[in-house]
Amino acid sequence: MKISGVFWICLFFPLIQYAQETEYNHVFFDNSLMEERWFYSETSYSSPSHILNIQGRLPIETEQAFTPGNSLQLNYRSAKEGSWIVNLNYPVWRGKDFLKKGDVLSFWLYVSGEIQKDKLPEIAIGLDEEEIANYIPMGEYIGDYSEKKWIQVKLPLEEFIGYEEYTNSNNIKVISIKQSPNDVGKHEILIDQVEILNQAIPAVELLTPELKSAEGFERHVDLSWKLEDTEATRYVKIYRSNDNVNFTGVGVQSPDKFSRYVDYTGVPGKTYYYKLSSLGYDYSESQLTESIKVSTREMSDEELLDMVQEASFRYYWDGAEVNSGLALENIPGRKNMIATGASGFGIMAMIVGVERGFITKDEFIIRMEKIVHFVENGDRFHGALPHFMDGPTGKVEAFFGKYDDGADLVETSFFMQGLLVAEQYLSKDNPEEKNLRDGISTIWKDVEWDWFKKQEDSLYLFWHWSPQHKWHINHKLIGWNETMITYFLAIASPTHSIPAKMYYSGWASQDTIAQNYRSNWGQTSEGSMYSNDKSYFGIPLEVGVGIGGPLFFSHYSFLGLDPRKMEDKYTNYFENNKDIVSINYRYCCENPGDFEGYGEKSWGLTASDGPRGYKAREAKVEMDDGTIAPTGAISSFPYTPEKSMDALKHFYREYGSFLWGEYGFRDAFNLSEDWTANIFMGLNQAPMVVMIENHRSGLIWDLFMKNENVQEALQEIKNVEK
Ligand code: CA
Repeated sequence: MKISGVFWICLFFPLIQYAQETEYNHVFFDNSLMEERWFYSETSYSSPSHILNIQGRLPIETEQAFTPGNSLQLNYRSAKEGSWIVNLNYPVWRGKDFLKKGDVLSFWLYVSGEIQKDKLPEIAIGLDEEEIANYIPMGEYIGDYSEKKWIQVKLPLEEFIGYEEYTNSNNIKVISIKQSPNDVGKHEILIDQVEILNQAIPAVELLTPELKSAEGFERHVDLSWKLEDTEATRYVKIYRSNDNVNFTGVGVQSPDKFSRYVDYTGVPGKTYYYKLSSLGYDYSESQLTESIKVSTREMSDEELLDMVQEASFRYYWDGAEVNSGLALENIPGRKNMIATGASGFGIMAMIVGVERGFITKDEFIIRMEKIVHFVENGDRFHGALPHFMDGPTGKVEAFFGKYDDGADLVETSFFMQGLLVAEQYLSKDNPEEKNLRDGISTIWKDVEWDWFKKQEDSLYLFWHWSPQHKWHINHKLIGWNETMITYFLAIASPTHSIPAKMYYSGWASQDTIAQNYRSNWGQTSEGSMYSNDKSYFGIPLEVGVGIGGPLFFSHYSFLGLDPRKMEDKYTNYFENNKDIVSINYRYCCENPGDFEGYGEKSWGLTASDGPRGYKAREAKVEMDDGTIAPTGAISSFPYTPEKSMDALKHFYREYGSFLWGEYGFRDAFNLSEDWTANIFMGLNQAPMVVMIENHRSGLIWDLFMKNENVQEALQEIKNVEK
């Protein structure tokens, strides 16, 4: 019987491992968040031909668009002896790797001047810029041609010679447009809504969305709606009016991403009217809703803090994976894949949500029941959670590579930090809260922290273990970084603790192994000891690898663990974090990399999305590419309240048009490259909610510190040095 059981599991395991991910539309361009140039375009030309560009990128047109608010300008001169070309690159971001298949390249064209159809540019598709070939004249695919009017151009993919080699349309990563050999002269065309579509999607009668709410803030309006048929709806279109008579399209929202829209108007004290409609895949439009009236208004500092907390909290509340109630890695991104560390941060953000009145305690309890039930039944390895899990099945998801298919002790510690805060918060003597406390207590006691020593006399904890690959990743945990909380909770465990002396032999080690580890991170030419004792910008730093590291080192471990109480023989961590943040601030003011937008009100280098992907950034030239993440300054609130408030206001008031979105601040921006993140990240939104709250009331710190195991661990670490 046993043998056949094992056989059955082996046979079916791959089939049941993950649920099917939701597929996104394969869109190259709908709207640019930045209004000057489009980051994902590349222009080139040889004289006497020319194409208008801003530092090699296409300018944005904001007055005339097919999908509001903007389109791409192709303003060119074609000459016999020259050529021009522009590539539109597919905007890639984390977890946007499941796409709907299509059979036609579709875009909308607006010809501003006079140009004959057969002299319109040629177009091609490519896997990357090396693989573009077989340009075809776009004019051949236009039926009713007319100028000064948006017309759809649809090119069947099979018309591109060699397309069969691409195997499927998901692989198309570049759209290339170049000068027609027939053309001579100067022209201006606009291009909008460039995407791969599936012709087979039937045209259906569209349902009008139900406009649920419109709320005015200082400089933006927050709209939300309900949509019955998200499958048939390509976009929800948003109209705004100043007089309730003349409505203009101001934006579109893809229902596969959000059922809300932020209209950043930039002006307080103004009244607007809004209507919505649905657009189909053929761009037919439903009837419009009735209008709704809403006004922006002046807001106090306290109200601005509430606003940032609530919008960021919503990432974990509205944006959670459905089955587990836990946090996604990033939104938009994979819709089934939950990130356990970010989920722990999210639990703390939800508790803030109850106390600030965003949700009720009963709603929180129902969510926690879902979460605890999910964790009890999902994959755990020696009690530790994986980094990523498939929400529908509870299985580990090896998103960071095949070896990461087991436990992640650091993510486990982030998750447990949140769970222990919830255990304290659910303190009432009623069956619901008692059951939850029992569930949390069992999960906490199940974690075999001591297993991750790898061997009995180990000096260090190890980050990963998997049943299949065992200790293959072999990554020791050595500070200064985000893993203090991992050692701390391992020492605090009532069932599987590690000796407190490992705080010094592992986390704060000064031995050769630890020094080499720090040097290998390539950021430690400033010093590879745990204790630092140098000064930067006149600020002495007691602990910190190099110049202090990315700011998340001063956030993640200290969402619950109160840095004011956390002391070792080297420093007090509230004071030390304050120094790290102040150094980061001073660096951004001095701005040695000469990046745009850095200054006294715009600072904060940490780990975030960036123009070329996710990266940890810090206050040194080699680790700074001009990308600022709002979470850097805002999650530093307890350390630098005035500077953090200045940054919050500046990010919202000056950069809100591109930076403020459905879940608060988008992950990051880079003004030197005219780039803003398309995503919000699970690791970055909650620290803003929690650290603003710790500054305002100390709520999360107080809850975490109430735990007896936590208090004992603090004492044990102090006793080691005696
Ligand atoms: Ca557009």
